[in-house]
Order: sequence, then structure tokens, then C-alpha cells
Amino acid sequence: MCGIVGAVAQRNVLGILLEGLKRLEYRGYDSAGLAISGGPTNKITNLKAVGKVNKLVAAAGKTKIKGHLGIAHTRWATHGKPTAANAHPQTSGNTIAIVHNGIIENHEPLRAKLLKAGYVFKSETDTETIAHLIHNARNTGKTSLLDAVKKTIKKLQGAYGLCVIDQNFPDKIVAARSGSPLVIGVGIGENFIASDPLALGQVTDRFVYLEEGDIAEVGRESYEIWHGDKKVTRKVTTIQSKDANAEKGEYAHFMLKEIYEQPKVLQDTLDGRISKGKVLEEAFGLNAKVVFDKVKNVQIVACGTSFHAGQAAKYWLETVAKLPCQVDIASDYRYRNIIDQPDTLFITLSQSGETADTLAALRFAKTKSYIASLAICNVATSSLVRESDLCLLTMAGQEIGVASTKAFTTQLAVLLILSIVLGRRTGLSSTQETKLVKDIARLPSLIEKNIATKQRNKESF
Ligand code: GLU
Repeated sequence: MCGIVGAVAQRNVLGILLEGLKRLEYRGYDSAGLAISGGPTNKITNLKAVGKVNKLVAAAGKTKIKGHLGIAHTRWATHGKPTAANAHPQTSGNTIAIVHNGIIENHEPLRAKLLKAGYVFKSETDTETIAHLIHNARNTGKTSLLDAVKKTIKKLQGAYGLCVIDQNFPDKIVAARSGSPLVIGVGIGENFIASDPLALGQVTDRFVYLEEGDIAEVGRESYEIWHGDKKVTRKVTTIQSKDANAEKGEYAHFMLKEIYEQPKVLQDTLDGRISKGKVLEEAFGLNAKVVFDKVKNVQIVACGTSFHAGQAAKYWLETVAKLPCQVDIASDYRYRNIIDQPDTLFITLSQSGETADTLAALRFAKTKSYIASLAICNVATSSLVRESDLCLLTMAGQEIGVASTKAFTTQLAVLLILSIVLGRRTGLSSTQETKLVKDIARLPSLIEKNIATKQRNKESF
């Protein structure tokens, strides 16, 4: 689940989209793209690049495209390899372009129906099915873009934050959220949308967070939000654009600030990874399913606090997934006579992804016969993530306090999710999964309540 930026203005929005994508780079991604509409016919032009946003910037410079309406995306592939064809925006009929964060679980039956209806697929993504469904709804029902999106999302199962533009509605972005965050950036005579307000800090400090199940139509002068068929209003929040991570703000020290941040970062970590009582296992990466099907043992390697997260995970892997699990301190692991069991998944845990011993352990593990390596890490661009076969990022943000707090809690959440997806293969029933996932989904609000109680009782941490 990666980054989305959209803008509708009187001025050229290309620079806003590219700057927004750069601000979202910290989340990690494999390709980037944008669709921009302008000129006398409002024709939509697509531009995509595999790799860094800078490549997209260079391509945009060469083509000199511009427009007053646009959507952009950084992709972390879940369905189909990181190629230009699979990068977003995905299009339908040259008139509709869509960017999507998340996973559409029922994309296969939807694709089959669309193929029968004569749609031609140009990518392997789950996202392209949404583009064609919207196109189909527009054509068959002769509906507005908004109604077509409303009709389409009723057919989707999984998680999505999506933004759509249509050449025939040249001043509108339609957005919908379910399991993947979206926020409207409110400007003067121009409006924006993004998956994270950070992406829009250069253009506005006023934001409207969409809630689960919300649909928004964002125009230049105004925006409207619906929840189902009911029009709703959502609060406008002002967020200063200074780097929130590097400021202590009202807190006595960074560790306290980071304790208070736990509900938010846990929610960020769960977004797009669970939906309607199920874990979306594609979030672990393209080959996750094939790898997870083979796992009979787990080896965890980590240092410090991450090692403690690993020890907690051992209990879950044994009870939820019924899998034998070994947890080692990374510096010890390389110097023992490791007897690697067949069909073992090798997991590294690290906040920074640069912990020297953990990295050395991963490189050593590659000389052994593990099925695959999985990194659970907080930094998308780190060596650990780059060198591992699979990865699931914790979304804890920068942790400055020396004693780990929010990085640890987000690691635990990811490890419990992992235990569930492995458990599915070893007898965990869907009722048990739903119960566990519902409990996990309550964690952010429970922690929030706990913090509020401590505040009320003037207790300290
Ligand atoms: N599932 C979509 C894809 O693979 C979106 C991935 C993302 O969230 O970046 O294209």
C-alpha cells in the first residue's frame, strides 16, 4: 500500500503531483506514475516510470505535459511485477484513469466477467478491474463519474483508497476509501487529495480526513462527501507543515511523544493489511502466497527490542500457526552451528533495517537452505528490505527516543498478522481469524483509551 496524490486547480498541477510523490517516497515503492488532464479537449495523458520518482520527474520534463487536473501514485506491487504496464494510473477506454492503494481480493472473478464483456486488460493488476468496472458503469448506466464509482465499489472486496478522473468530467476527482486512508487537502480555488497529508504540506495546511466507507467528489471550488447515499460533512483539521517527527511539541521528551503516537502508527500499520475480519496476505509481497504455502518452521533473528518482539511472536506462531519457531539474537546466530530445518522461513526484525548484526545474519542465511527471507522493518529504503525476498513495513515513522515504544508495538501487530496468515494453512478457522483480526483492529482505540485514562489519573508512564 503506497502513495496517492491528486489535484484540481486553475494552475498547472504537474509540479504539485511530483512534489507530493517525492514527499511519500519514505513509504517505499517500486514504480511511479501520473495521469494529467488538460488542453482544449481535456485529454488524459499518462506517464509512468519503473524505479524512482526522479525518473518520472525526468520523463515529465522531456514530454512537457501539463494540465489542471491530475492524479499520481507510487506503487508497491501486490498483483503483477513492478513494470510500467502494471504501474498506476490504470486506465479504461482512454477516458478513465485510476490510482489505487490496497488489494482487491475478488479481482479474479471480476476480471473474468469484464473479459466476457469485451474488455481488454493491459496489466496484471487487480486495480485495472476497477478502472474497467467504472467505465462499464458509466457506459451502461449513462451515469455521472460519481455514481459509477458508487456502483463499482459495491462490487469490491478487499481494501482500497482510490482516486479516479474521467476526461468527460474535467474538473473532478472522485475518491473512495475502505481500509486504506485518504485525506482531502483544502485550498483556495483549488483542492487536493492524498493518502497522507504530508504529501500536500507544500500547498495547504487544512485537511479533511475521509472515514471508512466515504466517497468524495473533489472539485476546484468545493468538495462533497457521501457515506453510502447520505451526504455527510467531516471536520476540517489544520496541520502545520513543519516536520512533526522532529519536534517534541508539548511533550517533555521524545519517548513520551512516541508513546502517545502509538494509536496512530498502529492504525497506519494496519491500514490496507486487514479488511472485514481478514488479513490481506498479498500485503507481504508478490510471492508471499507461494512462500507461505511451504512454511513448516520459522527462524527469527533480531537484536535488542526487536529480539523481544520476536520472542513474543514465538508464542503466537506456536499457538496461532502451530509452527515451531526459533528466535535468535542476530550476533549469536552467525556463530552457532545452525542446523537449518527444511521448509523454514527466515525472518529478520529491525526498526532501521541497517542493524549490522541482523544484516550480517540475513547475508549468512542466504548461504543456508531457507525457503525465503522476510524483513519486518520500519524503513522502506533500508538494506534489510532491499536484500530480503519479502517484506512488511511497520509504519511507525521516525523513532527518536532510545528506548523503543511505537516501533515495538507496530512490530508486534505485524507479527500477529503474520501468525494469522501462516495459521490459515495449519488449521486456523476463518471464525478464529475473524475474531483475532477484530481484536487487532481494536488495538489503536484501546491504546488511545488507556493513554487517556492515565492522563485523567495524572499517572506517568
Ligand atoms: N494492488 C495494487 C497493485 O498491485 C496496488 C498496490 C499498492 O497499494 O501500491 O497494483
